[in-house]
Amino acid sequence: MATSSIQWNPGWTTRQPERGDLVLVLSGSGVFKPGDGWLQPLESMPVQAGSAGFVSLGSADGRAVFVTEVPESVSADGDIVSLRDALMMISDVPAAMLSTGFQVWQWFQDHQYCGRCGGCMGFHRRERAKWCDSCSIPWYPRLAPCVIVVIRKEDHYLLAKSSRVKRHFYSLIAGFVEPGESLEAAVVREVKEETGLDVTNIQYRASEPWPFPHQLMAGFFADYAGGELVLQEDELADAGWFLPGSRPPVPPETTISGRLIRDMERMITGGVSGLE
Ligand SMILES: [Zn+2]
Repeated sequence: MATSSIQWNPGWTTRQPERGDLVLVLSGSGVFKPGDGWLQPLESMPVQAGSAGFVSLGSADGRAVFVTEVPESVSADGDIVSLRDALMMISDVPAAMLSTGFQVWQWFQDHQYCGRCGGCMGFHRRERAKWCDSCSIPWYPRLAPCVIVVIRKEDHYLLAKSSRVKRHFYSLIAGFVEPGESLEAAVVREVKEETGLDVTNIQYRASEPWPFPHQLMAGFFADYAGGELVLQEDELADAGWFLPGSRPPVPPETTISGRLIRDMERMITGGVSGLE
């Protein structure tokens, strides 16, 4: 199944896979990738696959899709591609399907027992959720909202290098939204905490799921409003103001940070400012 031809539709069923259904096979932090596609028929899976169970994801080209995981020791024909490399480096990857697969599998692993009574749980009949019969409560997949922001100061914009990420990219200020906080308030707080700067004119631009393990990134533009750059050392190794066209390496356009950066550059240079 060629990647470019996949018509992916998220969905839910409590049934288990049958012959002819397709499976997204995970292995550790990677995807088991057969040939030029990302899915394989149930009957073609590695022998030891499936012992961890299957979870419904939806359908691709009209065939039901499930996700499972094989131990990293299992060998079979095909490559294991890390999810991070797939989402950052490959332009025609079915990103929504892979993101959904990893997040759903993480939820399935993390919710084997009810968080309230500790009892075993089954699937909810109609929704993608686990269900505790004793407590009569559903447990849905977790989502963690995060903000990510490009800060503009006249013709420059701010790039920062994380002290945790090993890749040699400069990227944007980002962080988790806290309970009781709006997205805009999270932008103001994260920027202040990590850089010492004040921002204003916060404008929403775009969003993207980021399954490491379950972030939902909300992307913003903001204008510099005051303050001196003082880095939070456990978060940022470096940061600075850059002109469009004279920047260090940044994430590719397959990521929301890469798209926001290029979109801001186009806005500063007076070009098209759409994210599409
Ligand atoms: Zn319970």
